[in-house]
Amino acid sequence: MRSTTLHQSSQEFMNLEDRYGAHNYHPLPVVLTKGEGVYVWDVEGKRYYDFLSAYSALNQGHCHPRLVNALVEQASNLALTSRAFYNDQLGPYEKYVTEYFGFDKVLPMNSGAEAVETAIKLCRKWGYERKGIPNGEALIVVCGQNFHGRTTTIISFSSDPDAKGHFGPYTPGFISIPYNDLEALRKVLEENGNKVAGFLVEPIQGEAGVFVPDNAFLAGAAELCRTHQVLFMADEIQTGIGRTGSLLAVCGNCTCEGHCERQEATYIRPDVLILGKALSGGMYPVSAVLADDAIMGVIKPGQHGSTFGGNPIASHVAMEALEVLRDEKLTQNARRLGKLFRQRMQKLVDHSDLLVLVRGRGLLNAVVINDSPESSTAWDICVLLAKNGLLAKPTHGNIIRFAPPLVMTEEQLMECCDIIEQTFREYVMP
Ligand SMILES: *Cc1c(COP(=O)(O)O)cnc(C)c1O
Repeated sequence: MRSTTLHQSSQEFMNLEDRYGAHNYHPLPVVLTKGEGVYVWDVEGKRYYDFLSAYSALNQGHCHPRLVNALVEQASNLALTSRAFYNDQLGPYEKYVTEYFGFDKVLPMNSGAEAVETAIKLCRKWGYERKGIPNGEALIVVCGQNFHGRTTTIISFSSDPDAKGHFGPYTPGFISIPYNDLEALRKVLEENGNKVAGFLVEPIQGEAGVFVPDNAFLAGAAELCRTHQVLFMADEIQTGIGRTGSLLAVCGNCTCEGHCERQEATYIRPDVLILGKALSGGMYPVSAVLADDAIMGVIKPGQHGSTFGGNPIASHVAMEALEVLRDEKLTQNARRLGKLFRQRMQKLVDHSDLLVLVRGRGLLNAVVINDSPESSTAWDICVLLAKNGLLAKPTHGNIIRFAPPLVMTEEQLMECCDIIEQTFREYVMP
């Protein structure tokens, strides 16, 4: 019998996870029980601003009423059919999402890693059947410090020893170049171009610590890919859906109000677009791979799939989540608030030895702490931030990512900046 959970303390819940769960995460010591918009509450009733947003899955905020409603409505009507049959949600969703992002076709999956796996399989198949690469020899170029998920194939091209160590043997067929290094990409393509099927890249590297590449990098990479007949594959699982102040990070400074205007000069169109996380507003695991017919056409019945991929709940919720993004102008809000946030943080950086720099775009930002990546400084600051009512997490030792839900108001953001300022001051002079 399950014992009653009434009035259990944070410590008791943490003990349970510690005792019965695999130790594959190291969470901040806070136990959450409720979320609403930009806020979460712990089991003791303390309220926090959420500045992680479940790694940017919660762009639309916690428990958005329209998403809750969409979920409940569809869950009580039809939850799962498998793809053995048609359902009345998938088709409308496929039409909606392809028009929203401007591609011919979508392949629906669930988790981000699955969508990346799907893109890799699609890319390889395209390489053999369209580009004419000899079977079994296709290469995909990736970037150092990447994060694309946790499957065996994906960690095979990770440069993070924790992600990769003792999980081999690894999947071959990947070449890694330094991120933001156009010349390295040029060299690899000139040397192996006829065997390279794709280039897989995060337009901004989120997990690595919010590394924003030079303006010329993505455009140059897309151009090189075109020249060498290589698929340019953008992993926008974290950067997409308004997070960086444009619908997609590959939209650059596009001001299209969330409607992707493909004539926009700054838009760098990927051949393969990978989405996840906020595609469902964090309500349900929904991911997708988008591409045009000339690419997606290589996948035939029986060659790829997922029991839950494209299920009615996922389809229904994702449509609503994208509609919310547009209706509430969250992309524009992210852009506006992002500038204010970086201005405030820049002042802190200018006046503190503790901080090296602030960087980011839209509401995907990071502050680099003046300490070694092995130090516990960033972690200790995050614990102190939590005490002061704001939840954020270090990415790589000395980097703290700040990524609140995009439904935040300016007033709330200013209060959060005050909390962050106050916390840094408190850390230096306790
Ligand atoms: C989170 C993330 C993934 C993996 O998504 P999961 O849903 O955790 O499998 C892949 N790529 C990027 C850029 C991500 O941020």
